[in-house]
Amino acid sequence: MTLTQAILTEARRLGFALVGVTTPDPPPHYQVFEDWLKAGRHAEMAYLESLRSRQRRSDPRQILPDCRCILVLGISYPPSLDKPLQNGLPASVKQDVPGFTPLRGQIGSYAWQEDYHLWLPHQLKTLVAFIEKQAGKTVSHACYTDSGPILERDLAQRAGLGWIGKNTQLINPQYGSFILLAEILLGIELEISTPFEADRCGTCQRCQETCPTACILPNRTLDASRCISYLTIELRSIIPAELRPLIGNWIFGCDICQQVCPWNRRIFASGGEKNFSCQSEKLYPDLIELLTLDAETFSHRYKNSPIKRAKREGFVRNAVVALGNLLAHNPTHEQRTRAIQALHKAAQSDPSPLVRAHAAWALDRAGE
Ligand code: SF4
Ligand code: SF4
Repeated sequence: MTLTQAILTEARRLGFALVGVTTPDPPPHYQVFEDWLKAGRHAEMAYLESLRSRQRRSDPRQILPDCRCILVLGISYPPSLDKPLQNGLPASVKQDVPGFTPLRGQIGSYAWQEDYHLWLPHQLKTLVAFIEKQAGKTVSHACYTDSGPILERDLAQRAGLGWIGKNTQLINPQYGSFILLAEILLGIELEISTPFEADRCGTCQRCQETCPTACILPNRTLDASRCISYLTIELRSIIPAELRPLIGNWIFGCDICQQVCPWNRRIFASGGEKNFSCQSEKLYPDLIELLTLDAETFSHRYKNSPIKRAKREGFVRNAVVALGNLLAHNPTHEQRTRAIQALHKAAQSDPSPLVRAHAAWALDRAGE
C-alpha cells in the first residue's frame, strides 16, 4: 500500500466519507470570487475583502509556502427532513414535516449538531499524526474547517469530491450536498486525485426556481445580501423589510436549495450518517419560548452549537420575524393570542433595540 493509499484509508476510518488529494496550484475559480467581491455580493462580510485574505485564497502557498499537496476531506451530515420539500414552500405551511407544529422555527441541518469547529479539528490532528507516523518525520501542515481563507469547494472539485452545483454547493453523486468540508495543506508529495470534471446539474434549475429570495446567480454564486442563511446567521443589523416575509420560519440558516436538489434524494431516503443524533424539539423550536430567552440562557443552551454565532440578539430577532410570518398563515385563535402577547412584550421591553424594532414589524405584519 502506498503512503497515499494508507492516508486515504485512515481518513475513511476516521469518518471522512469523501477524501481526495489536489495540487497547491491557485484555485480555478479565484477570478469569479474577485468579481463577486467587486460586485459587493458579499454584503457586510468585510473580512472577505482584506488583502491578506484575498492573497491566501488566490494561492494556497501563501498559507503554507512549502505546500506540496492538499488533502480535501468531506463528512456527510443528515439533512433536515426525511424527504425533500416538493415545492419549496416555507415549512410553515407544510403539515407533513416531521416534528412540525405551528409556530415553530426551522434550523439549517448543519446546525443541529454540536458545532463542527469544536470536534472536526481533533479529527484532522489525528490524521496529521498518522501521516507523520507513516512518513517517519515531521510534516509541515495547515488545517482548515471552514475556518480560514481558502476556496474549499474549488479545491474539493479538483480533488475529485464532486462538482459545484448551480445552488453553489459542492455536490457528490453518492452523498449529495449535505457535506462538511475540511482541508489539510501538506508539505509532502502525495498522489494527486482525478478532478471531478462533469457538471451533473444538466438542465435542472430547481434550486434557482425555489430559492425564496431569488439570490442564486447564473454564475453559481450567491447574492449573499439576500440569502436567508446570511440574513439569519451573519447579518448583525436590521433585516431589510422587503426580505423579511420571504424568510418564512427559518431562524438559523436555510436548506431549501438543498432540499429540492435531486442529488440529495438518496441522502434524504437514508437519513444520512447515523453518527449524528437530533431531537425534533431542537430542530423546530417553539418560537414563543425563544422570545423569552435571556442572554445567560442563550449562552448556556447554545454554547456548543453553531447557533451561538448569531448571538442572542440576532437569534431572537430571527424568531420574531419568523413569528410575524407564521401569524400570516392563519394559526388557531389560541396560538395567535399567545404569539401577539409575546410580540407585544418583546416590542416593549426586550433589552435589544434590534429585537424591539423587528417585533414591532411582526405585530404590524400580523395586523396588530
Ligand atoms: S440558502 Fe435559502 S435563501 Fe440562500 S440560496 Fe439557498 S434557498 Fe436561497
Ligand atoms: S437543484 Fe438542480 S440545478 Fe440546483 S444544484 Fe441541484 S441538480 Fe443542480
